[in-house]
Amino acid sequence: MFEGLSDRLSGILSGLTRRGALTEADVTAAMREVRRALLEADVALEVVRGFTDRVREKAVGAVVLKSVTPGQMVVKIVNDELVAMLGTDAETIDLNAPAPVPVLMVGLQGSGKTTTTAKIARRLTEREKRRVLLASLDTRRPAAMEQLAVLARQVGVESLPIVAGQSAVQIARRAMEAARLGGFDVVMLDTAGRTTVDEALMAEAAEVKAATGPHEVLLVADALTGQDAVNTARAFDQRLGVTGIVLTRMDGDSRGGAALSMRAVTGKPIKLVGTGEKVDALEEFHPARVANRILG
Ligand code: GDP
Repeated sequence: MFEGLSDRLSGILSGLTRRGALTEADVTAAMREVRRALLEADVALEVVRGFTDRVREKAVGAVVLKSVTPGQMVVKIVNDELVAMLGTDAETIDLNAPAPVPVLMVGLQGSGKTTTTAKIARRLTEREKRRVLLASLDTRRPAAMEQLAVLARQVGVESLPIVAGQSAVQIARRAMEAARLGGFDVVMLDTAGRTTVDEALMAEAAEVKAATGPHEVLLVADALTGQDAVNTARAFDQRLGVTGIVLTRMDGDSRGGAALSMRAVTGKPIKLVGTGEKVDALEEFHPARVANRILG
């Protein structure tokens, strides 16, 4: 993750720290390089602009103040701005509501939504000792329903029995009722995915949302799709009111553009990241640690 960007930024910043005094022109030149490095990492243009403008302004101020170690000051400013861009604090899934708490999982087909649903269920079961019920609402793809049932068994979590012929909303209501009767803490509703953001997909998810009142609406997006992941998140958020993002395939994403732009573009936090195909390959997203990893 972030290998290319990390190498580039370390190079640029160590160039600054090696020198004693810095001029405003040095800072401006370095920021031009930082800008190019971020764009090559596929960070959204508007995010790159805001970032380099803020860093330059603060860094020039620091240089003008004649700091003893101006290069170090610039590194610290870059670090702080990276953390701010990524969201400051690690965010967790909020289950602070009367049980059973509905969690709506949305996203495009192939983003890793079903796998991520099982990963989160496993995490809530093992770490937080919650009783989780999984339900697939993908009425058009029986294979997807079966996939969730198989994954549920694999992670030792219950899934709602599949009943043919029900609509997504009917299944969602049945899941809530079953969870109430069965004393479950959380109901995770895995909505149908499509290959593109389409109105039918959004309308169905919106109907399920209205029927169940989910406490979290988690958008699953594939980090490897870069800015498309960010645009997808924006589209889902506008229609459904996303509360958090899970970015998958971070294990294969060496550039990091989606992770770096997501918060700034959508205003929504990355809550978790998928780091592999296995059911335990799910990690929290800690902005400070990510910034550290990037700056080496
Ligand atoms: P869905 O169509 O969105 O429900 O996607 P699936 O959950 O079926 O996932 C599609 C493929 O992506 C599967 O082969 C998953 O194992 C794989 N996958 C999901 N998350 C990750 C991840 O974080 N890293 C990697 N490498 N593969 C993932």
